[in-house]
Amino acid sequence: MFADVIVDVAHSQVDRVFEYSFCGCEVKLGSRVFVPFGSKTIEGIVVGIKEKSVFDENKIKPIISVIEETPALTEETLDLSQFIKRRYYCTHAAALRLFLPVEMRKGKVREKFVNFVKISPDFSEDAFNLLKKTAVKQKNALAFLSEGGEYPLSEINEEFGAAAVKSLAQKGFIEIFPVKNLRSPYKKLCGEKKNVTLTFAQISAIDSIVKTDKTTTLLFGVTGSGKTEVYLELIEKAVKEGKSAIMLVPEIALTPQMLKQLRARFSDNAAILHSGLSAGERFDEWWRIRSGEAKIVIGARSAIFAPVSNVGVIIVDEEHDGSYSSETTPRYDTIEVAEYRAEKNGAKLVLGSATPSVESYLKAVNGEYNLVEMPERINKKPLPEVQFVDMRKEIRHGNNTPFSSALKEEIAACLKANNQAMIFLNQRGYSKTVVCTECGHVCKCPNCDVSLTFHKEDDSLLCHYCGAKFKMIDACTECGSKYIRYGGVGTERVVYELKKLFPNARILRMDRDTTQSKEGHYSILSDFAEKKADILVGTQMIAKGHDFPSVTLVGILDADQSLHFSDYRSAERTFQLITQVAGRSGRAESAGKVVLQTYSPESSVLRQAIKYDYEGFFKNEISIRKATAFPPFTDIIRILFSSENDELALLAIKHAYNELSRLHEEQKDKFRFFGAMKAPIKRLQSKYRYQILMRIDKNDYSLIDEVFEIVGKYNDRTINVSFEINPNNLS
Ligand code: ADP
Ligand code: ZN
Ligand code: ZN
Repeated sequence: MFADVIVDVAHSQVDRVFEYSFCGCEVKLGSRVFVPFGSKTIEGIVVGIKEKSVFDENKIKPIISVIEETPALTEETLDLSQFIKRRYYCTHAAALRLFLPVEMRKGKVREKFVNFVKISPDFSEDAFNLLKKTAVKQKNALAFLSEGGEYPLSEINEEFGAAAVKSLAQKGFIEIFPVKNLRSPYKKLCGEKKNVTLTFAQISAIDSIVKTDKTTTLLFGVTGSGKTEVYLELIEKAVKEGKSAIMLVPEIALTPQMLKQLRARFSDNAAILHSGLSAGERFDEWWRIRSGEAKIVIGARSAIFAPVSNVGVIIVDEEHDGSYSSETTPRYDTIEVAEYRAEKNGAKLVLGSATPSVESYLKAVNGEYNLVEMPERINKKPLPEVQFVDMRKEIRHGNNTPFSSALKEEIAACLKANNQAMIFLNQRGYSKTVVCTECGHVCKCPNCDVSLTFHKEDDSLLCHYCGAKFKMIDACTECGSKYIRYGGVGTERVVYELKKLFPNARILRMDRDTTQSKEGHYSILSDFAEKKADILVGTQMIAKGHDFPSVTLVGILDADQSLHFSDYRSAERTFQLITQVAGRSGRAESAGKVVLQTYSPESSVLRQAIKYDYEGFFKNEISIRKATAFPPFTDIIRILFSSENDELALLAIKHAYNELSRLHEEQKDKFRFFGAMKAPIKRLQSKYRYQILMRIDKNDYSLIDEVFEIVGKYNDRTINVSFEINPNNLS
């Protein structure tokens, strides 16, 4: 017998199967194996097994060993890996890596064992007489263990002293034995199961999802409409039918509250895959899923690759969220992968959102997806009232603080009523830029073509693109002037100003800087949930899915900031963000309020967002996309060339562009746009960046194949060529 093996080297030159003969050990499809490769031993995955080889069978080297008895990949996930390779233009090795926890691949983590202790089977009462009179600790330990039971050695050591326990073991009175220990994360998380009676809207949503003959349902429900309960019911149903379930949420929405709810409902049947887990925890959770012990998987994007079998339902909550498209190779689209998996399993896919992506909603309107709407909040609570504030007027009236007078009043009222407020601003740090008022010089990152952000907390200037950090200047580096202006407010500054205005308020801040540690955003969110603070200031991290009953006010500072990005999705993102943030207010008894500050009050997107007019927004947006030939009516392909060597990058892109131009000439009717230019950020992490952009007919994979074929050649040691289809980030 022979095995086709993909070796764990994600390089295009070795992107093919290598044949090995069996080593006498049992080799299964999907097994991880060690194989000889050149002069080295490396890991690989068996992707095929066959009787005969086309090569001289005597020259084929044998597999060295099989790493785990249970194959890491199933037939289904192997097939999915082929789909990923073809669809996202990556090597098969890179596609396979998605299916294994990193720590497992590198062999860093193994199964963990802990020692337990119990009374020896040979024990008799005589043992007590054999112990010295003075050996009190040993006698106590023996008396305790002779009652029966198994205890962790560490606990017994602590209670009776390690020396005494060791001595008893040496005498053969007690036994120490290893037990496989699963590092279960969130052991301490056990909430109470909420007993809810489903509303009519929830029941009919579930009914429609179960009965539709379409694989995918778009569950379009306003914030607070009770979508989570629909998901949980569907999961429970699948499990009752002996199937498994995957539920994806944006990383940031994996809150302690949500995990508690899941634990309460599904206890150990739910496994959680999450970047906050330790390597060991992730490894154990992964095996609990692979072994079938846990049938429910909850996690961020990458949990779509979980090794569950016989999937009954896949849920993608907040389906519009940007985090569902991967920004590193392989640049997969989670929803597409979920659709593929659901179809292969005959499972249902549920995409939930209060602000569906334009792409998904179009599919729902066109009948490709089943559309289910939940337009009302639970208990018919009204959506919060939004007050619109024109910040240009505020400035004209001499208000130079980040808060309008309306927002200040509302915060004061909210604090007085002993409620909580959330203040949202999508800019971390103290000030976005640092500018010299004498000569106008702006502090810029030496590695990137972007300005540096001032972080007051550690008195530094930080590049938000490459992470470079410098000491804050006390004088302009160009002209020596001491007059420095802070341009653009960040979350640190907001907290600083709030403290001046409301010295007694307890304020928490949640942004990337305050959530660095493992439990970072967990502890901030639980503190806020437990009302240990009155105001939570944060970036878009606070926008997602959190359910805080005491929040009655949400302040949105600079609502139009994301409108000015040079990205075709900016209007969509702005609409989504504002609706999501506003939805945090007034979720329980008290009515909610939202104050939205803007410098572009004429913007139609903002006007629609404050009225929760998704349909109005969609109609507008889809006609613009159609008229300008942007997705979902076309596919954008971006080929980004980056290199530390400016000349080489420029030369390479010129050659590639010339080659592609021939393709363009031949098939002009398929192209809506074709051009080469500098990337919006011309230099990043010391690399110069150029791009070729094209918009082509939707889903023309044969053309995409041809383009990929041409540009792939330009990838070498000095130039990195990245190939993206409908990238999320065009900077
Ligand atoms: P969404 O995910 O749509 O924003 P949630 O699922 O968070 O909404 O539900 C909003 C609130 O309503 C939550 O506090 C939830 O516990 C509660 N809820 C959901 N379904 C019911 C129900 N059938 N009866 C009572 N309360 C419910
Ligand atoms: Zn200056
Ligand atoms: Zn930088």
